[in-house]
Amino acid sequence: MLYKRTSHLIQTVIRYSQLTNIARMSSKPSVYVTRPDVDESGLDLLRESCNVTTWSKASAIPREDLLREIKGKEALFCALTDRIDAAVLDAAGDQLKCIATISVGYEHIDVHECKRRGIRVGYTPDVLTDATAELTLALLLATNRRLFEANREVYNGGWKSWSPMWMCGKGLKNSRVALYGFGRIGQEIAARIVPFKPSQITYTTRSPKPEEAAKVNAKHVGFDEMLSLSDFIIVCCALTPETKEVFNSSAFEKMKPHCIFINTARGGVVDQKALTEALISKRIMAAGLDVTTPEPLPLNDPLLKLDNVVVLPHIGSADIETRKEMSRITARNIIAALKGCEMESEVNF
Ligand code: NAP
Repeated sequence: MLYKRTSHLIQTVIRYSQLTNIARMSSKPSVYVTRPDVDESGLDLLRESCNVTTWSKASAIPREDLLREIKGKEALFCALTDRIDAAVLDAAGDQLKCIATISVGYEHIDVHECKRRGIRVGYTPDVLTDATAELTLALLLATNRRLFEANREVYNGGWKSWSPMWMCGKGLKNSRVALYGFGRIGQEIAARIVPFKPSQITYTTRSPKPEEAAKVNAKHVGFDEMLSLSDFIIVCCALTPETKEVFNSSAFEKMKPHCIFINTARGGVVDQKALTEALISKRIMAAGLDVTTPEPLPLNDPLLKLDNVVVLPHIGSADIETRKEMSRITARNIIAALKGCEMESEVNF
């Protein structure tokens, strides 16, 4: 008898706790995460106050799956591989309050459509500035000193003996280095270039930035002056309708034949066919690209057949601590937006 009563009591307690759990879960806002492979610390933060569902594969979520999964969610944790447009917002429904991307670039999100619907947008500026500036320098040095090309020679038998003019590149010393874009990342790249003793650092932006430029003794120049006078051009601007394919055949025509072109911004800033032609014809000396169109670059892309190109798989911010913090910032942006509080980094549009 006593056993029966105790067992009944235990079952009642279990049932009650299940019910309260369900009630608690259903009162939490629902968040969809398009990448299961973001650092767990961000997901753990989200789980404290939200019901979190994630895409199950370690690859970009296909569009049709995103359109299905976002239905009924209050927030979306996304990446630059996800195109967030009116169709996605429609599929989500009116309860969607926030989109947070684990990137500083947000050209993949239709921010005007978000604004129109009162959906807040979070992103991750600043935290990735140093990592991206560091990678830009690594890519620049790999390109101008032909590191990968030389490394291949070691393994394919091309290294016969030390040779005076073999594998010579073009150093930064006494050269004119241009930054197209002089925001957070551009300024940090400039600071890292100064110790290499260039003759002049220039920058090209919509508006001059005299205070920031004074720190690295950089001079503001127009687009055409940058093209015709620079030995190195480093692209570190935002991708916008104005910067889309601004580096086209006419731009490459104006560059010096020994110009080295580096892009760690976005592939869309470059007309890639024109760049490929400029590299094949040696119209310019070399290019280092962390970003391309499309990504990943197909294995049969002509760029991958050229010795004067270094291509990296979009790893600008791929530093362990940086990526962990990007995951946490994205989570904190969502939590703040869902509470109606100030977000750590909100796109103001
Ligand atoms: P930011 O501080 O907003 O700087 C953007 C710069 O772009 C500003 O100097 C801006 O100049 C310039 N710009 C915008 N439109 C321009 C135009 N029409 N002509 C000339 N300059 C223009 O951004 P950030 O944090 O430095 O990041 C820059 C970009 O880097 C991001 O948008 C992202 O796409 C890319 N990124 C890539 C990686 C990677 O993994 N490879 C990592 C992080 C970031 P004004 O101030 O005059 O407008």
